[in-house]
Amino acid sequence: MKVSFIGAGPGDPKLITIKGKELIERAEVVVYAGSLVNKDILKYATTAKPEDIHDSAGLNLEEMEDIFRKAKDDGHNVARVHTGDPSIYGAINEQMQVLDRLGIDYEVIPGVSSFQAAAAALAQELTLPELCQTITLTRAPGRTPVPDKESLREIIRTTPTLVLFLSVSKLNEIVETLKEEYSDDTPVAVVYRASWPDQKIVKGTLTTIVEEMAKTDITKTALILVGEVLSKDAKASLLYDKNFSHEYRAKK
Ligand code: SAH
Repeated sequence: MKVSFIGAGPGDPKLITIKGKELIERAEVVVYAGSLVNKDILKYATTAKPEDIHDSAGLNLEEMEDIFRKAKDDGHNVARVHTGDPSIYGAINEQMQVLDRLGIDYEVIPGVSSFQAAAAALAQELTLPELCQTITLTRAPGRTPVPDKESLREIIRTTPTLVLFLSVSKLNEIVETLKEEYSDDTPVAVVYRASWPDQKIVKGTLTTIVEEMAKTDITKTALILVGEVLSKDAKASLLYDKNFSHEYRAKK
């Protein structure tokens, strides 16, 4: 038996990988993060009995351990379904430590992260030539602290394309900090529930975004994207330039 950590994608059940979907179909036990994973994903769970499908929101690590141990005893495969991609704020590490201790084999199936779905919702490339070639994914401190050396003030010195997870409720203070490095007219987008039917996009600049957000009731499940790339006023990529030859295309 095996535990498969599966990225469910950002919300739209069609944004799961084929591999992830097939593992959910075959698993006798499914544990999913009910707070963010779309329940429609559970329709893929055609092997697991209803009593073997668990919402992890109501479980602590010990209860999760009991489920893993029982699955091992029964020789049942477990689909452990996480939102977006499991490697980003996924809390999979502590579960893997439990599995190591129990001698249970595991694997990770990547998923489409919400930051990718947000970029798609905005039809936005996050890396534009001569403007910005670096994306920084981070968060404001919450109940989980952020190490001092990674404080927002420290990491924005190079004004990267910035994506903030788990931070929308602290937008006001974040904007004040960002203004120390980014110019006041830097574009900002907040994407709420990217890829869900009730997705919302709020656009502004560091000067206007707080006011724009005050007109909405968005307090969670949103990403803040910041950076000059969002203005789209950038040079075209060299990749399709007629004077730029590469491995797959000779210079004409
Ligand atoms: N592993 C996930 C992130 C989990 S942390 C991923 O790769 O996307 C949870 C945070 O992710 C939320 O607070 C929110 O900031 C963001 N998030 C998750 N799903 C989202 C969605 N569909 N749209 C916008 N933000 C989302």
